[in-house]
Amino acid sequence: MDATGFAYRLAEQFGLAVLETRPGLVPLTLDPGLLESIAPLAGIAAPAEIRHGRTAFREALLFTHRGLSGPAILQISSYWREGDEIVVAIEPDIDIAAHLKTAKQLNGRQSPQTALGDILPKRLAQFLVEREKISGNLADLPDKALLRLAAGVQNWAVKPSGSEGYRTAEVTLGGIDTAGLDSRSMETKAVPGLYFIGECVDVTGWLGGYNFQWAWASGFAAGEWA
Ligand SMILES: Cc1cc2nc3c(=O)[nH]c(=O)nc-3n(C[C@H](O)[C@H](O)[C@H](O)COP(=O)(O)OP(=O)(O)OC[C@H]3O[C@@H](n4cnc5c(N)ncnc54)[C@H](O)[C@@H]3O)c2cc1C
Repeated sequence: MDATGFAYRLAEQFGLAVLETRPGLVPLTLDPGLLESIAPLAGIAAPAEIRHGRTAFREALLFTHRGLSGPAILQISSYWREGDEIVVAIEPDIDIAAHLKTAKQLNGRQSPQTALGDILPKRLAQFLVEREKISGNLADLPDKALLRLAAGVQNWAVKPSGSEGYRTAEVTLGGIDTAGLDSRSMETKAVPGLYFIGECVDVTGWLGGYNFQWAWASGFAAGEWA
């Protein structure tokens, strides 16, 4: 959008604190080994809960050629830091373990891929079964194997290698410290007549229009005051 570092440079020139900036609301990338294994899933989307520590988002997850994306991943990316794990739970509203056990009782000759495929896209179901190295019909599988498969679907710990960066990020985390601004006018406390609004300030919203809202509302407040 032609944004530049101009506001940060100006703030620093006037001695204002600028907090470390980084891309937010951004797809996460995976290391080449993991990426190769999930390559067949590129383009598949599924409802998911993505967790990072105590923060969790329930929205769509999208597998891409670079890693993981979709609204749930964009949201968690604003909390994730290099080296951290995220936990992926696909179809979080469905008890996958119970579904597999019921399928085993009612239709033991069914394969686990087919049973999972009732809930998940077929390619994803196949990938998850193969990843757990599970083979045979449901009737041949101990409940322990079904629980392991269910955990693979709903408790998958992944360590992203990075993010796609500013090329695709929707916001910048960090920026001009709000402590240096009057919260009603956005005027800097140290330099009367100097205002900072919008993206360059250390205010970041979730997906859903909150960043536009902040840019417009803070701009309106500063304009009224000025
Ligand atoms: C792909 C994408 C999708 C997004 N989707 C959403 C969404 O759905 N909902 C939402 O709320 N937010 C979304 N955002 C975030 C939102 O666009 C920004 O938070 C918002 O535009 C910030 O507004 P701003 O006016 O602070 O900064 P900007 O919109 O970046 O405006 C800064 C302006 O300053 C100009 N400029 C830079 N340097 C100079 C200079 N030296 N002199 C003069 N002019 C200069 C730039 O050209 C630019 O026009 C999205 C962002 C991206 C990139």
